[in-house]
Amino acid sequence: MSAQETLRNARSGGSEDIAPDFVEGAYWWDAMGQEDGKSSPGFRASADAAIVGAGVTGLNAAIELARSGRSVAVFDAGVAGFGASSRNTGFLGRFLKKSFAELAKAYGVEKATAYYAELFQALNVSMVEVIQREGINCDFNLSGRVVLARSPSQLRGVVDEFKLRQKHLGEDVHILDRSELQREIRCSNVFCGGVLIPDMATIHPGKYHAGLLAAATKLGVLVYSNARVSGITKSADKFDVETPLGTLRATDVIVATNGYTGKEMNWFARRLVPFQGFAIATEEVDRQRLAGLLPTNRSYTDADFDTMAIRLTPDGKRVITSGRTGKAMPIRAKASLLRKDLLSVLPDLADVRVSYAWSGFCAAPLDTMPKIGQRSDGVWYATGFTFMGMPQGSYFGRKVAFQVLGKPEGETNYSKVPFKSSPFYSGNPWFLRPLMAAMRVKDRFENRRCDVEPPNATFPYGAFL
Ligand SMILES: Cc1cc2nc3c(=O)[nH]c(=O)nc-3n(C[C@H](O)[C@H](O)[C@H](O)COP(=O)(O)OP(=O)(O)OC[C@H]3O[C@@H](n4cnc5c(N)ncnc54)[C@H](O)[C@@H]3O)c2cc1C
Repeated sequence: MSAQETLRNARSGGSEDIAPDFVEGAYWWDAMGQEDGKSSPGFRASADAAIVGAGVTGLNAAIELARSGRSVAVFDAGVAGFGASSRNTGFLGRFLKKSFAELAKAYGVEKATAYYAELFQALNVSMVEVIQREGINCDFNLSGRVVLARSPSQLRGVVDEFKLRQKHLGEDVHILDRSELQREIRCSNVFCGGVLIPDMATIHPGKYHAGLLAAATKLGVLVYSNARVSGITKSADKFDVETPLGTLRATDVIVATNGYTGKEMNWFARRLVPFQGFAIATEEVDRQRLAGLLPTNRSYTDADFDTMAIRLTPDGKRVITSGRTGKAMPIRAKASLLRKDLLSVLPDLADVRVSYAWSGFCAAPLDTMPKIGQRSDGVWYATGFTFMGMPQGSYFGRKVAFQVLGKPEGETNYSKVPFKSSPFYSGNPWFLRPLMAAMRVKDRFENRRCDVEPPNATFPYGAFL
């Protein structure tokens, strides 16, 4: 069944906040290709490289390897692209879970600058290069990002962080007071101000993934859907990759499974904490009406730990909202809550219902820094991108391929960050729910009132996007 058919079959009845054409599924899937075009025919028992995971990370790696003449087989446990790579909200930012200020405090300004400078390479250089080179039509839009603050002290935290980045990275940053903010977003009075970063972007994740898949296939990459890798073992100087289709022998193996890493990849599962994220898209609204509310058509995130994010779809007809990370519940209930969040910012949309709601998984390493490198047995990896994986996965996917090829372009500061496990973590994130609940309470108490000066709030930077 195609993704479109799955969506159509899932459509089921409406209510006050849920549209009659509601589907549980990503808005982006409507624009993605048919499922049967997503698996290569036949099975070959050997390749120069095997890649586990056909998201943006795995496909960027595959394209670079194939361009250098390597034979490549990519395996995905589901249909290629149905991991987080087609379930995200398409915000392209330059964030880490640790703020620039936190990194500078922990490792010094020089290292913090080196880590953050690479994020510019990831989004504004590497991703743009691949999109242009492979001719991918994915609504890439240098829309700019507005980070919104809910209290005076939160605003100070946001401004301090971006001033530091301006000073050390030369980032173009504009500080917005309450009235300037209204030129960017005609919102209720929940925000005291914000910061505009003009060279962050948005994308259509479904079209981007479909474009990468088409480019990889054209270069001769074999992509196998519904082919979960159940084991990777080393024998002689090669790897045996076990799949339901058979065992493939490969010189190199790259693991790119991020938030979908299962027990069969236990070494990785013990180092990655999976988070469930949620998003909605509204029913169609008159374009002019939405343009009146979001006149500069940027991407918008608040500065809470449990980040709320808002953007328009590329056609300008719907609003996408994400947030409420970590607490699983029936998707319709989650959709209603996210709509409520949207209305708290844009109350003029009170008559607009939800047409799509979906969820997906990302993963954070225990130190929250993205990971790229090689295990002691020689298996390569690029993973741990939390909710920033569109630029980071694309970049580190390419980087790890360059490392496999022994090319100097593979160099990155992130290779030096160890990928550690903990005796207290076996892969079961039992602590997530209470942690997120505690952070939500913290957000609420510290940051909710623009007219009240709460105790010093720090900006939990790059919380989730
Ligand atoms: C709701 C939501 C909103 C988000 N918003 C943004 C955003 O706005 N901007 C941003 O930059 N990031 C965002 N993210 C995060 C981003 O989508 C991910 O970080 C990124 O897609 C990771 O890409 P990936 O290729 O590494 O992993 P994925 O796309 O998750 O792909 C991993 C694949 O590995 C496969 N797999 C797992 N185990 C096996 C196995 N044993 N054998 C074979 N295959 C296997 C899975 O089936 C899956 O398809 C969001 C995520 C979610 C869930």
